[in-house]
Amino acid sequence: MPGFEIFGDEERKHVGDVLETGVLFRYGFEQARNGHFKAAEFEKKLCEITKANHAHLCASGTAALATALAACGIGAGDEVIIQPFTFVATFEAVIMAGAVPIFSHIDETLCLDPDRLEDVVTEKTRAVLPVHMCGAMARINEIKNFCDKRGLILVEDACQSLGATFGGRALGTFGKAGCFSFDAVKTVTCGEGGGIITNSAQVYEKCDQYADHGHDHLGGADRGADDHPIIGTNFRISELNAAVGLAQLNKLDQILEIQRKNKMAIKNAMADISEVTFRYIPDPLGDSATFLTFFLPTQDRAKEIAKRLSDNGVTGCPYWYDNNWHYLKEWHHLKGMKRSARLSFELNDQLPDYSKVVLEESDNIINRAISMQIMLSWTKEDIEKRIQGIMNAFKG
Ligand SMILES: *Cc1c(COP(=O)(O)O)cnc(C)c1O
Repeated sequence: MPGFEIFGDEERKHVGDVLETGVLFRYGFEQARNGHFKAAEFEKKLCEITKANHAHLCASGTAALATALAACGIGAGDEVIIQPFTFVATFEAVIMAGAVPIFSHIDETLCLDPDRLEDVVTEKTRAVLPVHMCGAMARINEIKNFCDKRGLILVEDACQSLGATFGGRALGTFGKAGCFSFDAVKTVTCGEGGGIITNSAQVYEKCDQYADHGHDHLGGADRGADDHPIIGTNFRISELNAAVGLAQLNKLDQILEIQRKNKMAIKNAMADISEVTFRYIPDPLGDSATFLTFFLPTQDRAKEIAKRLSDNGVTGCPYWYDNNWHYLKEWHHLKGMKRSARLSFELNDQLPDYSKVVLEESDNIINRAISMQIMLSWTKEDIEKRIQGIMNAFKG
């Protein structure tokens, strides 16, 4: 699953290139940098992989989401529809934009249910932000159709799904912008990093400016001569982080191949367990295969199996319903509006009471789900042992 499992000489080489020049900054220093533009090279490669027209690399996936929302013109007073199963960064980014996160249901894709969006649309709804969770896709074409029909902006949180596709098209390219994370545990890592892809030259330009204090990057060698068309912030990535990521991105095909092979071995072995059903993946060929997710018939049985897997040495199997970071139920800081200072989104006159948000049908999907991380480093023996552990866990 995470790229850190396969660090090697390539990462060392690219980082060495940067250290030799001493230029850790992604912009300028043309003479000193000896031709090394790691962030820019990463962006070019990300465009090749996703076939997006533009890519911008920044400090984190969270920064990528915040930048994408800003660049798409989403801000104070707007409502953004998100899902209750994601990493907390999704709602943080909406709040950072001054916009209001509105929760809607997931379906058995573990992602936003296009059939339920209508229920939560108001005149303030500006955007829909589906999250392609655990390496695979939402019913993204249907979500896209809904957004088009209602004149809503679609931004995709594909932070966990680099390399995944739907109908041959990269996740992150269906909306106005798509976001990736390259943090320490993602499919490809920069240590810390994030990326935005878009087919819109205008959105790209705003991302490029917003993430670097509004710099238009047109001043030539003198950064001080740049103009500042918009107010931005600093979400830049360093060349060191970009260098690690560039080496990793070049290994994406290899990563996907191993993940798919390992996932297939486990999934095939579990196919005959009658009480198990698998997550619905709209386009199985496009699954990046970072996780194998399955459902048990009831919440009690799912909890029992999660425990039995652990007891049988089958590690890395999160039970998301009780997870602190990935499901609404345990987001007590949001529900209690615990924050260090007043947030701008509190100025909205119709802020939902998050402590009262109930999504029973989503609960009933997540509380029966168990995911299994698919690792790159598994040997054939590891996989055989794992399958044995799974079989033991289900006996009884
Ligand atoms: C990891 C992640 C993020 C945030 O990325 P960071 O790089 O850690 O800031 C956002 N959304 C989802 C779904 C993620 O998994």
